[in-house]
Amino acid sequence: MVSPFVAPVPERSPSLERQAIIDLSAIANNIRHLREIAAPAQFMAVVKADAYGHGMIPVARTAVAAGAQWLGAVHVSEGLALRAAGIEVPVLSWLHTLDTDFTAAVANELDLGCSGWELEYIVAAARELQRPARIHLKIDTGLGRNGCSRENWPALVTAAMEYQDQGLLRVVGVFSHLAVADEPQRPETDEQLDRFREAVNIAEEAGAQLEVRHIANTPATLSRPDSHFDMVRVGLGIYGLSPFADQSSAALGLTPAMTLETQIAQCKDVPAGQGVSYGLNFIASQATTLGLIPLGYADGVPRIATGGPVRVNGITYPVVGRIAMDQMVIDLGPEGRAGFENGSALGAPAVLFGNGADGGPLVEEWAGAAGTVNYEIVTRISPRVPRRYVGGAQ
Ligand SMILES: *Cc1c(COP(=O)(O)O)cnc(C)c1O
Repeated sequence: MVSPFVAPVPERSPSLERQAIIDLSAIANNIRHLREIAAPAQFMAVVKADAYGHGMIPVARTAVAAGAQWLGAVHVSEGLALRAAGIEVPVLSWLHTLDTDFTAAVANELDLGCSGWELEYIVAAARELQRPARIHLKIDTGLGRNGCSRENWPALVTAAMEYQDQGLLRVVGVFSHLAVADEPQRPETDEQLDRFREAVNIAEEAGAQLEVRHIANTPATLSRPDSHFDMVRVGLGIYGLSPFADQSSAALGLTPAMTLETQIAQCKDVPAGQGVSYGLNFIASQATTLGLIPLGYADGVPRIATGGPVRVNGITYPVVGRIAMDQMVIDLGPEGRAGFENGSALGAPAVLFGNGADGGPLVEEWAGAAGTVNYEIVTRISPRVPRRYVGGAQ
């Protein structure tokens, strides 16, 4: 009999120990599909937060190749990273602090969102560089986060137009962000669109010649054609995920682009009564075989998501016991060794989520287990998980 303590030596790359496989052709196809829905509006691919965890530079290049005319990067530092990678399409950054490097932003031709206080800082940068900044004035139409209040809007427009007359900037856009577009039956979106049109009118009456008026995110792009205006700003959808609780990616014609995969790190028989992981919150009710999954909250899997699905050998098993920093456990069952070569699950591929094509688990199931949304699950996959790109020019 082969000693149970000697593992076969596989010919595997260490990078396959755990990986987020990013399907760039899925992202390209999602963008083409969404562009058709948005046309004739222009398309901004939102690549903030390392492209929702998918990798900003490869996704940005894929997006441009698939016809995205604009890129959205929330921070100036993210926009500068796009420029440093040689990406030349228009980029908008819109969330600033007193420490934002507006000079670098203007020097690198980033378009800047401006909600109010930033105006003087942007103008100072333009003066210093002796070149006009391109700004998009942001109106808060109801979300209550950044954006200029309706009360202060006329004053902001007036101040910006004075600087435009002095050659220090160009007001090229007016934009806003929606609060409840993922719940299309709610009335607040209509109200926000009304306020947006009103704000655009005020800017245009003050002489602004706007290249782009934009308010639509992914859910509005899909459900509210009247929100498209000159451009849509799409994040979640390009990654193939649905913003709606009651509609799947497939129903929307989208393909999830990230597959989170690892391999079983140990396959162990335990007696009835065996407790599993910190707190011993799971106790085996019968003799069984446990599979050890070498991913944990340090890899971005939420600690709270016990019960989340792991697909091994065509079967989906729920995580049992607490998810720890580096590892978690699935219960393969008393007959759990049967389906594996040599009677051991050691080294078997284990998929936490993917594109669902093979009936495998989806990001949304992990979101459900963690009490959160699909946005958060993909975005929080940590740098400890190498990204591997397939299906496209990078
Ligand atoms: C993140 C973000 C988007 C993209 O939202 P999705 O729902 O992912 O499409 C659009 N606009 C702004 C201002 C954002 O911050």
